[in-house]
Amino acid sequence: MPTVTLTEHASSARTASNGAAAAPTTAAGAVPARLKGLKCRECGQQYPIEPIHVCNFCFGPLEVEYDYDLLARTVTRESIERGPLSIWRYKDLLPVNELADTGWRVGYTPLQPAPNLGRALGLDDLWIKNDSVNPTFSFKDRVVAVASAKAREFGFDTFACASTGNLASAVAAAGIRVGLKTYVFLPWDTEHSKILNALVYGATLVSVKGTYDDVNRLCSEIADRRNWAFCNINVRPYYSEGSKTLAFETAEQLGWQAPDHVVVPIASGSLLTKITKGFEELVKVGLIDHEQVCVSGAQAAGCNPVAEAYAQGWDAVKPVHRPDTIAKSLAIGNPADGYYVLKIVREREGAVRDASNEEIAEGMRLLASTEGVFAETAGGVTVAVLKKLVQEGIVRRGERVVAYITGNGLKTLDAVAPVLTQPTLVEPTLDAFEAFLQERSA
Ligand SMILES: *Cc1c(COP(=O)(O)O)cnc(C)c1O
Ligand SMILES: [Zn+2]
Repeated sequence: MPTVTLTEHASSARTASNGAAAAPTTAAGAVPARLKGLKCRECGQQYPIEPIHVCNFCFGPLEVEYDYDLLARTVTRESIERGPLSIWRYKDLLPVNELADTGWRVGYTPLQPAPNLGRALGLDDLWIKNDSVNPTFSFKDRVVAVASAKAREFGFDTFACASTGNLASAVAAAGIRVGLKTYVFLPWDTEHSKILNALVYGATLVSVKGTYDDVNRLCSEIADRRNWAFCNINVRPYYSEGSKTLAFETAEQLGWQAPDHVVVPIASGSLLTKITKGFEELVKVGLIDHEQVCVSGAQAAGCNPVAEAYAQGWDAVKPVHRPDTIAKSLAIGNPADGYYVLKIVREREGAVRDASNEEIAEGMRLLASTEGVFAETAGGVTVAVLKKLVQEGIVRRGERVVAYITGNGLKTLDAVAPVLTQPTLVEPTLDAFEAFLQERSA
């Protein structure tokens, strides 16, 4: 059992029973007809829409099931385009009862052409989906927006998560917006900047002496005892649906077309599986004509269970017990969705590769210096792996490629320092400046 350091922070002003600081904007209604329920991914057993995540029969993961025939008749490009400039424009394809818009711009982030990076890597049609500009500066705002809305609908008063860093700040901030108390649990060696990023919103932060997998196990035990909504435990089926919006936006921003190849960073693997599900749903509902998206995954070499299983041809993932990488947001040694990621990537003719600390930092520098996008370490992983995939011929020059940049560089400033030239100190004289210029051009 890991030792827990409890750090209490004043959050007494915010409880669900006193009405909360932020006015609730959602209400629990009847489950809409488009939501059929939950379904076991393994044995197909069906369950009602409840805060549960594991099948009682086979322990498989539960997934939200929609009535696609109904959606095909009711959802159109026009109905979506009339919606808000956020993930809620796709609310019909999300498992919420009501429009859960808190007035925050979560999602609808830029999909920008990346010709300079493309030239550097040998690609003719590269795009960057820049999710570093969400409210708490990572893609986690998407999944948390859906999970927090659902937690409210289910009547929970406390919203919690096991986090590798970014989820904590997304949960802490969403708690303010929807009026839920928040508890966030992180491994003790999480970057200081990410700890402060969660504390500033007034969350109760629990720093756990252990790895993310220890934190996750502890949280499962807490979830059994306390009636709390845990993002990535009991409300995980709803949480993970939020990631689909990255596929929806990508297709809409490309003029309702799917790209040829996507490169996605992997922690638990949920993001990759749900981006894939998102493209499949767009075809099912008739919003795009067809898709044949190749899907590739990116991991850090210091925590690469999926890349390793892919390389070895294994169906299952062998956990990494001691992750050791600067890409801490991806440091999940035992990824819950690893098995499904392997299946998807093989079926869709991509690959999973990993990147060393040096390659990650260089990837961050390259992206910033070619496209003006400063990504955190996870973005460095994605760019570094994309580079390898092009060199290996797995991603091809003519393909329309989308690289998912999932977090902001200001969160992991220290990581990029080793590949940057430190500034030179110059005397405040013209001569000194001229000498400095000469030295630089030499
Ligand atoms: C959480 C996270 C991911 C991947 O998440 P999954 O667990 O695979 O869904 C990717 N990038 C960043 C920056 C993250 O915080
Ligand atoms: Zn089952």
